Amino acid sequence: MTTLPAPPLTNCSPQLTLDPWHFDAPLPPHYGPGASQTDTIPLNAPTQPQLPAEYRALDQTELDRRIRRAKAELGERLLILGHHYQRDEIIKYADLRGDSFKLSELAAARPEADYIVFCGVHFMAESADVLAQPHQQVILPNMAAGCSMADMAHEDDVLDAWDALTALLGTASGATQPVIPITYMNSAAALKSFCGEHGGSVCTSSNAEHVLRWAFERGERVLFFPDQHLGRNTAWAMGIPLEQMVVWDPRRPLGGNTPDQLRQARIILWKGHCSVHKRFTVQQIEQARRDYPGINVIVHPECELPVVQAADIYGSTELILARIAASAPGSQWAVGTEISMVRRLQQEHPDKLIFCLDPVVCPCSTMYRIHPAYLAWALDNLLAGQVVNRITVDATTKHWARVALERMLALH
Ligand code: SF4
Repeated sequence: MTTLPAPPLTNCSPQLTLDPWHFDAPLPPHYGPGASQTDTIPLNAPTQPQLPAEYRALDQTELDRRIRRAKAELGERLLILGHHYQRDEIIKYADLRGDSFKLSELAAARPEADYIVFCGVHFMAESADVLAQPHQQVILPNMAAGCSMADMAHEDDVLDAWDALTALLGTASGATQPVIPITYMNSAAALKSFCGEHGGSVCTSSNAEHVLRWAFERGERVLFFPDQHLGRNTAWAMGIPLEQMVVWDPRRPLGGNTPDQLRQARIILWKGHCSVHKRFTVQQIEQARRDYPGINVIVHPECELPVVQAADIYGSTELILARIAASAPGSQWAVGTEISMVRRLQQEHPDKLIFCLDPVVCPCSTMYRIHPAYLAWALDNLLAGQVVNRITVDATTKHWARVALERMLALH
């Protein structure tokens, strides 16, 4: 079958041609080029010390040799995890590939792995440490690989919101709570811990509806953070009208709502978003349908509600991968998720037409910060008996974060 070629692409920043070490300390924290390039980063966000000059100068062949040597010498003691949004140059070294929760669970089930190197972003490495066994050490190759969405819900702001809501709506009476806190997997460990301690849970993009149903059996309303879009899309699919959803802006008193709006709300959506998925628009979908009649449009639930409504299918990264893999040869797909994953889908399914809905190449700024040079540096240090860029979560936070994760797992 002959298919039309995929549309041409350009970059959202000329700096995407630079290697990530151009953005290391001593520059102040910033997300770097890519989808989060205009987001405001917290001043206390972790920074990556300058990658040693030796590693900045290595060519791909030498980096490859060093990474493969470390993998061979460390054997099963080393486990490299690759998130779907990582570039191909990293994914090729991953022992396991997946979304953040799947990877953390799989790593914890590999007790022989003393070192878990998470090629993803900061909250993912934290989740791996929360679920890890005591002897396992989790490493993030570049400390500046945070997540702008996770950073949009800061622990102090969530605590302030909770205090304000409790003052307005009261505390639990009988079997129900006025508010159940639910955090998306894409959040700091401190917020998962907060949910554990306050009768809430974690959710993923695959199980958000199950978790919300669980929450509505126990409480009158849900405080959902940090991604307003996953919360709104899920609540909308459950039949909750938009009038019963409010947005909580942490910079405004009562989140920018009146007391009555909060009393009537079924879901209070934190004002956070993923800058990668916010790029997708209804106009892009309409254009794809004009250019490729009959095309399937599939998007991630971190996209805005009108985009999800205009798509044929929406779901998690794992669902997107599975649906395209199971489709017939010659089928056509316009995909609304991170470009590295879409490119890999193109390579893995040459018999199908697959392209990113966004005609501009704009990867996740922080996934982009992981490069083989940082991986080689972290692994060479392991061979020398040193652990660099270890991610640790304190014992109390770990305990309550596990409580929240276990509530989610109990729903399966
Ligand atoms: S794709 Fe979005 S949610 Fe995922 S790490 Fe990047 S900014 Fe965060």
